Amino acid sequence: MERRRALGLAIGTAIVAALILLYLANGRFRRGAEQSGSALAGEARQGGLTFELDAAVAGVRVRPAKVPGRPIVLIDAGHGGRDSGAIGVSGTVRESALALAMSRELADLLETRGRVRVALTREDDRYLTLEQRAGISRRLDAGLFLSIHMDSAPNPLAHGATIYSLSDVASSAEAARFAVAENRAGGALSSEGDGSVRALLADVALREQMEASASLAIRMVRRAVGRVTLRPRPHQFAAFHVLRRAEAPSVLVEAGYISNAGDELKLMTKQGRAPLVLALAQAVEADLATRAAR
Ligand SMILES: [Zn+2]
Repeated sequence: MERRRALGLAIGTAIVAALILLYLANGRFRRGAEQSGSALAGEARQGGLTFELDAAVAGVRVRPAKVPGRPIVLIDAGHGGRDSGAIGVSGTVRESALALAMSRELADLLETRGRVRVALTREDDRYLTLEQRAGISRRLDAGLFLSIHMDSAPNPLAHGATIYSLSDVASSAEAARFAVAENRAGGALSSEGDGSVRALLADVALREQMEASASLAIRMVRRAVGRVTLRPRPHQFAAFHVLRRAEAPSVLVEAGYISNAGDELKLMTKQGRAPLVLALAQAVEADLATRAAR
């Protein structure tokens, strides 16, 4: 009886290991296809599946790189439409408008530099659910996903930028509360996970996604040091639903606190936003170049 149970366990383990290897081999194949310059990698990957494209997804424009076949960087301007996000301390600016302005500037800069393809989840003041934003990322098979936000806190002295990367454990109570609030604002779904083999494979993918997201965040912080005012612990971890569902290395950038008079003044102008925009662009390009060379 004991032996039979042990045998059953061994066979079960072998099947799970084989499935994981199969998944990893598939990932390697996919990266190969992207490097060979196939612009249709996203469509090809989705095979026979049909996707219902709603208006939000259909309107997305991908700006080309100078060299074809480069990965797509998807920039997500936080909030929009009926969800204006935080309001600045002066009472004159909305987070949704500043996030859009900064996202556009980052997209313009990346397009000019021409090393990656770039797209925006929204180019105007419209409401998108978190699932729609993540859906655009999956649909485009985005190489990186960056969500741009402006922070706000009850303490008027809190200031500086923070880069959050995806995690299943928040790095602080504040980060946890923040993730809950952002997830709620965008109509997040509850997380799935049923203990099946499919859930196990999804877990392997999620681990890879979290590691890649953290290394992107670290790179961004390094590029920003000395040029941008950062919070004392500028790299934080939080369980953002939109980052997880984007199925790409993903970070959420809080450009600064619009509840702080100094940060608000800076974030209100293109000139004030420029150092962070440049640091993000350089980090994105370096991250994708390292990934392609692997
Ligand atoms: Zn926000």
